[in-house]
Amino acid sequence: MTPFPWHRAALAQLLAARDRLPHAILIHGPGGIGKVEFGRALAATVLCETPGAKTACGTCASCHWFSQGNHPDFREVLPEAAAEEEEAPAVEAEGARAEKAKSLVIKIDQIRAVADFIALTTHRGGYRVLLLHPAEALQPASANALLKTLEEPPPRTLIAMVSDRPARLLPTLRSRCRMLALPMPARSEALQWLREQGVAQPEAALAAAGGAPLLARDLASPEEAELRRRVLAELARPGGADALQFATAVDRTTLERTLWWMQTWVHDLLRARLAGDVRHHEEFAAAIRARARAADLDALFELDRELAEARRLATHPLNARLLSEHLLMAYNRATSATAQK
Ligand SMILES: [Zn+2]
Repeated sequence: MTPFPWHRAALAQLLAARDRLPHAILIHGPGGIGKVEFGRALAATVLCETPGAKTACGTCASCHWFSQGNHPDFREVLPEAAAEEEEAPAVEAEGARAEKAKSLVIKIDQIRAVADFIALTTHRGGYRVLLLHPAEALQPASANALLKTLEEPPPRTLIAMVSDRPARLLPTLRSRCRMLALPMPARSEALQWLREQGVAQPEAALAAAGGAPLLARDLASPEEAELRRRVLAELARPGGADALQFATAVDRTTLERTLWWMQTWVHDLLRARLAGDVRHHEEFAAAIRARARAADLDALFELDRELAEARRLATHPLNARLLSEHLLMAYNRATSATAQK
C-alpha cells in the first residue's frame, strides 16, 4: 500500500511524530484525488512492524496481511453498496444491481460492530486502525453511536475518516477529529502519474476531471470515453437534446456518469458566460459558447444544483430514465433563447 506521490509529504508529516498521532483524524479534500487510498496507506504504515519504516515496508507479516485484506487489527467501514461495487466491478450482469437495493449509508449495526472491534485487545499488540468512508454516509444514529467511541478510545487506536464534504458532518463529530486537508495535486505530478498509468491523453483527461488524477484515470477508460462522447454530442445538438430518445439509453449503471458529464458541461456553460472560457471540454468550446449566449443564467445555476442532488442520489433505486429525461428537458429550457423562468 504505497501512497500516491502527491501524498507522500502529507503522510510523512503526519507520521513524523508517531507517538503523538491523534486518535481520530478526518481526511478531507476534493473528490478523485485518492483520499481513501491515503487512509489505507496511513493504516498500513501505522500497522507495519518494521521499526522506523516511513511507509509500509510491504514485507513484514503485518504488511502481508494488510495487502491480503485480512489484517486482524484493521477494519474498513463503508456503505454496503460501495463495498459491493469494489468487489464486483463493471462485469456484473445487467439488472443484477437493480434487484438488490444495497444500502448507501453506514448503518448503526456497522458502528456497533466497530465498537466491539475497538474494545477488544489487539491481535498483534500494536495499533488498531479503523478507516471509515465516506463519513457523510453516516446516518444520524450511526454518527451518534460513533461519537461515544471517539470520546474515549483505548490507547494506540487510530480512527481515520474520509470525506469530500466535511461541512455535512455533525459538528460534534468534526470537533473530535484532527482535520487533515489534502489538496488537489500539482498538475505536473498528476500528469506524470497519469502517463505512468498509460493514459493516452493525460492533459485532456486531467482537464475534464478538474485536476483530480484518479478521476482523470477513470474518465480516460474506453467505456467512459464512449459515454462522454455520447452525452456531449447530445448536449451540443444545435436544436437541443432529444431528451426522450437519449434517456432510453440511460440505466442505473450509467446514470451517475451521465449526470457527471452533464454537470461538467453546465459548468463550462457558466464559465463561458461569466468568464469567457471553458475548463472541461475545450474541444467543444464553440458549441459551448453558442449555447451559453442563449442560456438563462438563473436556470443554469438551478440545473447545476439539481444535477448535484441527482448525482448524490444516483445509485438509489430510482428511475434512471425518467430522471435523466427530466434533467435533459430542464437543460433544453435553460439553454434555449426562449428560456422560461
Ligand atoms: Zn511492514
